[in-house]
Amino acid sequence: MSAQPAFRTLSLGAGVQSTTLFFLAAEGRIPRPDVAIFADTGWEPAAVYAHLDRIEREIAQPAGIPILRVTVGDIRADALDPAHKFVSMPTFTIGPCQVCIPRGTLGSVFNLTAEIDGKEYTDYTGVCPRCKGRGTQHGMGQRQCTPEYKIRPIKKKVRELLGYPHPMSIPADVHAEQQVGFSRDELGRVKDSGLRYLRSVFPLLSLEGAADGRQGWTRADCRRYLKAHGWESTPRSACVGCPFRGNREWREMRDERPAEWADAVAFDHALRAIPRADGIREYLHASRVPLDEAPIGRVTSHEWKSRQTDIFGQIADAELELGNPDGCGPWACRSGAAA
Ligand code: SF4
Ligand SMILES: [Zn+2]
Repeated sequence: MSAQPAFRTLSLGAGVQSTTLFFLAAEGRIPRPDVAIFADTGWEPAAVYAHLDRIEREIAQPAGIPILRVTVGDIRADALDPAHKFVSMPTFTIGPCQVCIPRGTLGSVFNLTAEIDGKEYTDYTGVCPRCKGRGTQHGMGQRQCTPEYKIRPIKKKVRELLGYPHPMSIPADVHAEQQVGFSRDELGRVKDSGLRYLRSVFPLLSLEGAADGRQGWTRADCRRYLKAHGWESTPRSACVGCPFRGNREWREMRDERPAEWADAVAFDHALRAIPRADGIREYLHASRVPLDEAPIGRVTSHEWKSRQTDIFGQIADAELELGNPDGCGPWACRSGAAA
């Protein structure tokens, strides 16, 4: 494998860390990328597109680093199109109980011998251990949207730039280097692309000058740096209807960006209007009620407690309220579990 990359790309999610990375590259503090690539799901908030335009105007063009916007389609339209291959977003679901319903005994089981949710049952008869008699169970859509809408178009573009579009095989000594804006507080999520022809590097992790004196910048260091350059308004990059949002974010959308809120509410309703053979209903909010009826207001800690056990299941109240601050990047959707 050649030590020298054919070219260097910067993975631009347009959030805090990757915007910082772009600035540092333009300032010459990290190796200069030949291009930056932004994967567009087609459903980012208006503020993200405006931010991207500003990066292009004020950083990319003066520095002579082109931003390539790549896409495989509009995630919102695809998710609601019954003819489109199933788009799996990380929605909160309610579906038929997979223990008692297939056995034809709604809410109960007879002579059950199986392991259910980590517990062994031998010849058990009684209330269904999965659904506790309700006949339904909660789940989550398996997130395929990040690989499909963010990683796939980036891979395609990198192959093109290398001169080996799919399905050509790429020689072992040809690769590109990709700068990814992981900060030190995200160390658990740092990972390579898994592609031999696209090797990731994480320049924020080796920077000096962090507020706590340690090596590598945190998200807070990035924010401080952006603020010093007049970019404190860097928005969170995530699809308008991404279910990985805390209540605070939903409230902000409802109160400050009513058009986006109306769009998300309409999408949430439309999800359940799609005919589905498996009987599963999808929701954007963790409470699994329609978004415009979901309990997104501020609540007392006592209410948190009862809500956690009553409706929200396993979701920690801090996450329910605050969500994840960083949005969705191609190489680790920072909202929720790693892809
Ligand atoms: S922001 Fe959410 S919906 Fe959009 S690609 Fe990432 S995980 Fe999927
Ligand atoms: Zn059941």
